[in-house]
Amino acid sequence: MTLAYIGLGSNLSDPEAQIHQAIVNIKSIPNSHITQISSLYFSRPMGPQDQPDYMNAVLALDTQFSALELLDHLQTIENNAGRVRKENRWGARILDLDILLFGDKTINTERLIVPHYGMKAREFVLIPLAEIAETLLLPDGDSVSTLAKNIATNDLKIHSQLNSMR
Ligand code: ATP
Ligand code: CA
Ligand code: CA
Repeated sequence: MTLAYIGLGSNLSDPEAQIHQAIVNIKSIPNSHITQISSLYFSRPMGPQDQPDYMNAVLALDTQFSALELLDHLQTIENNAGRVRKENRWGARILDLDILLFGDKTINTERLIVPHYGMKAREFVLIPLAEIAETLLLPDGDSVSTLAKNIATNDLKIHSQLNSMR
């Protein structure tokens, strides 16, 4: 089993409901189980500002799958939610599921970069991640809690609790 951390985001079609449904769908991934779920947060969009605010959360999933197999499951869930892939980077989306960490593995392939390349610069990843994994170290030795403490909050706010959905 590998403990993976997954970042969830949505800013279209009732983001709170999208995150709830995504958690239900992640729970149904075989040979895997959710061990932790962060609070649900409101966050400001990254990149293009002419889009709605986001809802974000991070969860920990213990899984028997490989990282690529897990990515396949997550992309199926994104597609089933009705996500349409567009050319504009970081534009509005119904559901985004990123693999932040996959155990202590470092992966650099065309389809998958782990740890997620942007995670150290994103408050909506670091702060929820530190909430559920206070003592976690990245493969390069950096402390998630220290990174989270030092990043600007950019108005990130807790909206509600999700942990009862485990
Ligand atoms: P960002 O990657 O900056 O967060 P994004 O999430 O909007 O932007 P997507 O359009 O969702 O980007 O994903 C583009 C591709 O990124 C995916 O098809 C996938 O193959 C690849 N990818 C690379 N590393 C990862 C990862 N760690 N988790 C999820 N997808 C990844
Ligand atoms: Ca993303
Ligand atoms: Ca993504």
